[in-house]
Amino acid sequence: MLYKVIKKVDYKEFVSKLISDFEFIGPVKKDIATHDFVRINDFSKLDINYKRTTIAPAKKILFPSTEVLIQYEIGEDIKISSVYEAKEKILFGIDACDVNGLSFLDRFFSEDLIDEPYFSRRRKLTVIGIDRMPSKTNFSLSMGKEYAKDGFDLFLTDLKDRYFVRVGSEKGNGLLSKYAITSAAGDEDFKDYNKFMDTYRKSFKLKADVANLYDNFEQVYDDAQFWKKIAKDCYSCGSCCLVCPTCFCFNVKDDMELNLKKGNKIREWDSCMIPEYGLVAGSHNFRPTKENRLKQRYRCKIKTFADRFGSNSCVGCGRCIEACLAKINIAEDINSVKKEVSV
Ligand code: SF4
Ligand code: SF4
Repeated sequence: MLYKVIKKVDYKEFVSKLISDFEFIGPVKKDIATHDFVRINDFSKLDINYKRTTIAPAKKILFPSTEVLIQYEIGEDIKISSVYEAKEKILFGIDACDVNGLSFLDRFFSEDLIDEPYFSRRRKLTVIGIDRMPSKTNFSLSMGKEYAKDGFDLFLTDLKDRYFVRVGSEKGNGLLSKYAITSAAGDEDFKDYNKFMDTYRKSFKLKADVANLYDNFEQVYDDAQFWKKIAKDCYSCGSCCLVCPTCFCFNVKDDMELNLKKGNKIREWDSCMIPEYGLVAGSHNFRPTKENRLKQRYRCKIKTFADRFGSNSCVGCGRCIEACLAKINIAEDINSVKKEVSV
């Protein structure tokens, strides 16, 4: 990895040039409590000082909530055309746990088959991450996802009068050479970077005790009373899945014209937390209760991918905690698993 420095006085010009030459997506303040990642045409709209976890996850840029996968026409032959767009874009200002969320999706959507709609966008997406102080619901330190080792092109850390820049790809290096005035990071820069990272890691207030979670989860898995207690207030609304940067479930449906000759195949986000998710032919539901569903969601987040990828799919961003009207808190529930097994 290359390490560089951009002075604050040169940063504005660097970002302004990117905004004028690319489709640039970054955090914009929406209201007193929320930010969203949207297209920006003017540097003054960019607000990287978001304190709270932004509710809409960055995955929507690569994996939109609704998209047409293919259009088809049925005549003597069947004509099929793909319609997903793929433009060069810059995604600016996501934090380390969201970069790790994207890395998880990269792996998931290429595990067995390459998901072409996702990767057509991913190949053209430049990711510029930035270290952010954690929001009160962010427990990514506990999940080992507070630092991004890869998955980005550039990663910036604010050292007051300059940015420390980790260069993650050739593409990122090319952007710096073309658009920024930089210098190689030296001893002082590394010293200040370490200081920042120490303060950053000490700023995580919410902790999840994941030591032995892999084994303890099995111990509580069949404990119906435990899951009843954990899920008792759940409304089965599915919001936790919609805001999660690593939830990937989707449904595919046909939208045909009335003449039954033309149509679109559409995919849209789905949620394992809603009752209809488990509904199959004959009105059988393989996850009929809210405790079945929450247990399954937690298994997916804190166990399944430890087996498949060697690392949990929950990056500890805390969005599901903020989105849940029933105040169900995955970090506290992870701690409850340990407590339940330890008493
Ligand atoms: S855990 Fe919370 S956000 Fe998720 S389905 Fe239940 S009530 Fe909705
Ligand atoms: S499960 Fe919750 S805390 Fe974990 S990545 Fe998803 S939204 Fe973030």
